[in-house]
Amino acid sequence: MENNNQLPKVIKLFNFAKKERSLGGVYKISSLPRISEIARNKEDNVKVDLSFYLENNKTPCIKGIINLNIILDCQRCLEALPIELKVDFKLAFVRHEQQAEGLDSSYELYVTKEEEEELLTIDIITDEILLSIPMAPSHDFNCNLIINKDEVVEENRENPFIILKNIKIANDGKE
Ligand SMILES: [Zn+2]
Repeated sequence: MENNNQLPKVIKLFNFAKKERSLGGVYKISSLPRISEIARNKEDNVKVDLSFYLENNKTPCIKGIINLNIILDCQRCLEALPIELKVDFKLAFVRHEQQAEGLDSSYELYVTKEEEEELLTIDIITDEILLSIPMAPSHDFNCNLIINKDEVVEENRENPFIILKNIKIANDGKE
């Protein structure tokens, strides 16, 4: 599907919610700086759909879906790790904690300061993508055994970067 429509740069939260707007757009990964930093496929697309509405006639909410295929660095072998992400989310923007009481638990809550809050669209998209990426993404097979097959590796699951450092030091000492 050809889709050159872009979402507006700034979301006017209350205004969009009152009008129950539904917006869709396609971004390049390279246009989301914090995602681009960790992705190898910066020219690929991120597809975003956002719907705005008022919950309980007063709480602005965003329901969204983000689709992208991202290629990260595996944190164990440092080779390419493709991940298909489909991020579903529901956000509710409340002025204070009590306002959250009528909302069901599927909402992520944000506390806003102003009545007419304006948000940068790419900040919302970026945050939701980052939340959906695993903390230390790695291949689901035992990839470190493949690259290290000639090495004697001490088992250390906590931090793969420390393992790599230790291997270097051990080799320098031996030879
Ligand atoms: Zn790996």
